[in-house]
Amino acid sequence: LSVSELVDASLKRIAETDGKIGAFLTLDEEGARKAASELDSSSGERGLLFGLPAGIKDNIVTEGLRTTCASRFLSNYDPIYDATVVEKLRSAQAVTVGKLNMDEFAMGGSNENSSYHPVRNPWDTTRVPGGSSGGSAASVAAGQVYFSLGSDTGGSIRQPAAYCGVVGLKPTYGLVSRFGLVAFASSLDQIGPITKNVEDAAFVLQAIAGHDGRDSTSANVDIPDYASALTGDVKGLRIAVPKEYFGEGIDPQVKERVLEALKTYESMGAVWEEVSLPHTEYAVATYYLLSSSEASSNLARFDGVRYGVRAEDPANLLDLYRRSRSEGFGPEVKRRIMLGTYALSSGYYDAYYKKAQQVRTLIKRDFDQVFEKYDVIVSPTAPTTAFRLGEQVDDPLTMYLNDICTIPASLAGVPAISIPCGLADGLPVGLQIMGKPFDEATVLRAAHAFE
Ligand code: GLN
Repeated sequence: LSVSELVDASLKRIAETDGKIGAFLTLDEEGARKAASELDSSSGERGLLFGLPAGIKDNIVTEGLRTTCASRFLSNYDPIYDATVVEKLRSAQAVTVGKLNMDEFAMGGSNENSSYHPVRNPWDTTRVPGGSSGGSAASVAAGQVYFSLGSDTGGSIRQPAAYCGVVGLKPTYGLVSRFGLVAFASSLDQIGPITKNVEDAAFVLQAIAGHDGRDSTSANVDIPDYASALTGDVKGLRIAVPKEYFGEGIDPQVKERVLEALKTYESMGAVWEEVSLPHTEYAVATYYLLSSSEASSNLARFDGVRYGVRAEDPANLLDLYRRSRSEGFGPEVKRRIMLGTYALSSGYYDAYYKKAQQVRTLIKRDFDQVFEKYDVIVSPTAPTTAFRLGEQVDDPLTMYLNDICTIPASLAGVPAISIPCGLADGLPVGLQIMGKPFDEATVLRAAHAFE
């Protein structure tokens, strides 16, 4: 099979299925075909991801290829450089076929906040694919691409992976460069792979991880060989099961699938015990305060002057700012900017932002303590399976509570993967495995052994 044939197959599949799924915002047929034929005529050693068709979430910048963050504001934005992860995929010889739909600026958990069109879950097109990396998860689940990249701030890789029955990995904060990722909440954002299986996740992570001088929060750590960690052996693995992740709001069938998974681990020689992460109940509030605060600051750069669309015939500079932002941003993005601006304003800063930072530290300490005795923490990825389009869209609070299982790992900065662990009423359930900082190898090993 040549790379051109592989890329043609991917493009054909997209043409056949994307009318129903809506995973793509921009296709790059010409660029993909050209890259494929170059790889076909190349000689020498093959890259780690040689010839694999990939999709990129649309908040990761690609040189000359439209990057909208699913926002009207950036409907005309063609970046002049590639994100570090895009450069790395190219040097691993993967082929980018296009840019994937998402919630606007990665704010959301159902993909219904895209300014262009929603994404539908390939398992049941009346249901959401999750979000914000809904296009990334749906495109892999629908067999349109071999793998994709998503971004995760509070669960946006893991939750859609769970809803679409694929594998999604949020790496440790700092492991993968954020250079060229359009910032939502910089202290939380991480890019990671969405794949069909754990082995592929290990290979894609291998290709994109590593120190980058262009990202000031990039960690300078040794990158192990992730694939060699996939031994299939979990004998003696110490699994912590936090009781707070099994309480109210968790669907009984989801709980059941996770408990069955724990039994499987037990039969493979792992040991699990119930533990407590006592500050879990404050995680969602803490996350929405901090992430909205950071977003209000990060999104200040969209002023109608520097990027994207500019309001027509402004009366003066203030009018230019005001109208560009009113017309360019969708309702959820506006809600977060207002929330964040409020939390950061003088007089409220100590009560909200500072307090939330303090609680974040307590949440991080919960994790540190559990990891003194255990190798991984296992929980559901999301409280339920994929819900129906329109079901929660008018109820931001219910929507925010869907992130209850994924947000704590984001606040703590630790790695976490979601892998499929069976079905509930015919819909995929996700198992979340969280690990120690920079211990992706153990997370991947545990995930792989379960598959
Ligand atoms: N659903 C969460 C939110 O809306 C997570 C988003 C994300 O991880 N980018 O903020």
